[in-house]
Amino acid sequence: MSTSSPPDPRSGLPLRARLATTVGGAAGRASRLAGRGDGSVIGGIIGLRLQPDLLCLLARGRRIVLVTGTNGKTTTTRLITAALGTLGQQIASNAFGANMEAGLVAALARAPDATMAVLEVDEKHMPAMLQATGAQVVTLLNLSRDQMDRAAEIWLLARRWRAVLAAAPDCRVIANADDPLVAWAAGQARRVTWVAAGQRWHDDSWCCPNCGSHLRRDGDDWHCGECPNRRPPVSWVLAGDEVIDPTGRSRPLDLLLPGRANRSNAVIALAVAEVFGVGFTQAMNAIQQVRSVAGRYTHVERRGCDLRLLLAKNPAGWLEALDVLAPAPVPVMLAVNAQVPDGKDTSWLWDVDYRRLRGRQVFVAGERKLDLAVRLEADEVAFRIVGSVDEAVDLARSPSMDVLANYTAFQQIRAVLGRTA
Ligand SMILES: [Zn+2]
Repeated sequence: MSTSSPPDPRSGLPLRARLATTVGGAAGRASRLAGRGDGSVIGGIIGLRLQPDLLCLLARGRRIVLVTGTNGKTTTTRLITAALGTLGQQIASNAFGANMEAGLVAALARAPDATMAVLEVDEKHMPAMLQATGAQVVTLLNLSRDQMDRAAEIWLLARRWRAVLAAAPDCRVIANADDPLVAWAAGQARRVTWVAAGQRWHDDSWCCPNCGSHLRRDGDDWHCGECPNRRPPVSWVLAGDEVIDPTGRSRPLDLLLPGRANRSNAVIALAVAEVFGVGFTQAMNAIQQVRSVAGRYTHVERRGCDLRLLLAKNPAGWLEALDVLAPAPVPVMLAVNAQVPDGKDTSWLWDVDYRRLRGRQVFVAGERKLDLAVRLEADEVAFRIVGSVDEAVDLARSPSMDVLANYTAFQQIRAVLGRTA
């Protein structure tokens, strides 16, 4: 990768594109002032109407990292941004998770002087966004069902990733070797850094993506019994609470963010940082200081109770979130909605094992609290249904409580508590 500084990204923009970013930026500010979110998406949409290839124009001359996968995108984007921030350059990023084309446009337009960008990308849009931005680095975290996506859609997606990465020989791929679908998707890329980042959710990857036979697993290792497809040799390894770097040196991962999933995200971020010449200690110092990501893991004081907010969007995310719950007897509130961004169907609730919640105070809320209640009944978890966070706080009479919610339920709770991070 060239280390010479790229030209000022703004100076190359055609007049119409400059106009598009100006108008889009004004619309975004208006939307923010009107209290309709952070305004980034509306600004991007308007910019793209005026200049359909705006993303391509805005990306020109910048060094770009794309981050995609089913879970962990927002957090990993934040950690990579922290690590690369130690280089002292301004970095553009869609830090609040607006991860489709308009969100990327808004992030780049907002930071015209940034010579680098770390961008979270929706997994379905990654191929088009890679082609539009010409990103130098693509980070593949994992690939599993989101809500009620069918397995066939995941496989189709992996095939699209594989094709676009094979056609981008200059792109460096950082990929999770423990996820067989990800490994296959990156399998024809020219330059791959393989990371043993772990895979908690195995249900979507029992079949070999290459030939359809049964995959065999032996601890972390996996291979196909029928074809040569196997786990690639890894450079970076997450081993319990430690990270092993490409030289074989093992060091502790002391993070403020909780849980195995975040340790996995951190190891991926360290591998990306290395590509840009950021040393381990320098990157690690920045990564371990990140304490909340777009309001997730945030602590909020509410009526004398220290609430910790956890977001989980799909079965794999709920498993990871249940892993990081504070130990009993700390009470927990679960909130589930089924609006369009959540998926209308709540049958995924049955894919998660809730038995570990037995023996502690559990509160159930959200628009689909009855679906959740039925599910908890089946797992013999005692619970109380509540109408709000405040009701749960009042009933719990506890100095602290974990609040775990899916996407729109999380947004509603944050709106009640105020945007605190
Ligand atoms: Zn096979």
